[in-house]
Amino acid sequence: MSKRDYYEILEVPREADAATLKKAYRRLAMKYHPDQNPDDAQAAEKFKELTEAYQVLSDAEKRALYDRYGHQMPRGTGGPTGFGFDMDMENMTDFFESIFGAMFDRGPRRRAVQGKPGRDLQYELSVTLEQVVNGASLEITLPRPVRCDDCGGNGQAKGHSAKTCPQCQGAGQLRLQQGIFAVSVPCNMCGAAGRIIDVPCPSCQGQGLVEKNETFPVAVPPGVANGAMRVINGGGEQGREGGRDGNLNIVIRVKPHPVFERRDDDLLSAVQITYPQAVLGDEITVPTLEGSARMKIRPGTQSGQVYALKGKGVPRPNGARRGELRFVVEVDIPKEVTEKQRHLIEALGLELGTEVRAQATSFLDKVKRLFD
Ligand SMILES: [Zn+2]
Ligand SMILES: [Zn+2]
Repeated sequence: MSKRDYYEILEVPREADAATLKKAYRRLAMKYHPDQNPDDAQAAEKFKELTEAYQVLSDAEKRALYDRYGHQMPRGTGGPTGFGFDMDMENMTDFFESIFGAMFDRGPRRRAVQGKPGRDLQYELSVTLEQVVNGASLEITLPRPVRCDDCGGNGQAKGHSAKTCPQCQGAGQLRLQQGIFAVSVPCNMCGAAGRIIDVPCPSCQGQGLVEKNETFPVAVPPGVANGAMRVINGGGEQGREGGRDGNLNIVIRVKPHPVFERRDDDLLSAVQITYPQAVLGDEITVPTLEGSARMKIRPGTQSGQVYALKGKGVPRPNGARRGELRFVVEVDIPKEVTEKQRHLIEALGLELGTEVRAQATSFLDKVKRLFD
């Protein structure tokens, strides 16, 4: 059986360089590839022949052997046993991509989808701590890409019909098939749409989408965590040509509160008491998210001690109980005292067994006194 000369197959001279070979192969492979010639066994055979020729001639070592021996390869001398296909799917994929990669847009591989699905949209919703505790029904308004009314989302100006992409025949994908191998790449000519827009719709510049302000209700459940996401199915970018609508993902951000800090289901804050209150105990007024509340300070309270009001924190996700509102107690040490307070504190010091020699609070006070 006579085999055609590889150079002849690729229609290049014997001294053709690598770039010339590649160009020739690309041109011929496009012409004969099975998608361009459905049910054409002859074209498929040609495509196979071309690919074999190119695989040999693009490999410097194999090409040197071929130039020397032609199709009559020496066998059994440890050398290559012949030319042919590298039957390795991964290598074939790399091989086709190395040839066609620059020609086709290489996107992530995707499954065949109906129409053009809309993208998901992300929105950050700021809520207050009060809204987290009580729950809230809010609304958000955002510019949403929706199908263009004027073209129905196909991007084509009225009175003009879209043309089937000549490169992929409307498939959106270019499929290179060789025996058991099949490699699909998105068509770069039509952006995988399968159709080409001749006259773009003036309302959407051919995008098929326009931005429209839309309002969505958002339920903020009591106790929602910072960073929690609410998903509005189908609230994202609208799909076109039968593609599904994207989702709207709403991320809830809890704004910092001036008085309370949230720790999971609990709230933290601080409160100052006086030395007598710390020593003798008292009942004081503290802030909560629902107005003020009374809180008992036990006699002998230490600075840094923590008091908790049960049920005044954040609702737990199951909605049953609320966490605690905790106050760190700080004993307030006054920076300035009146003359009367000074005497009383000195007397207390004496009683406690410490003789307090009251001092002017600063060097500057002493200096001032010199000039009085
Ligand atoms: Zn339009
Ligand atoms: Zn195409």
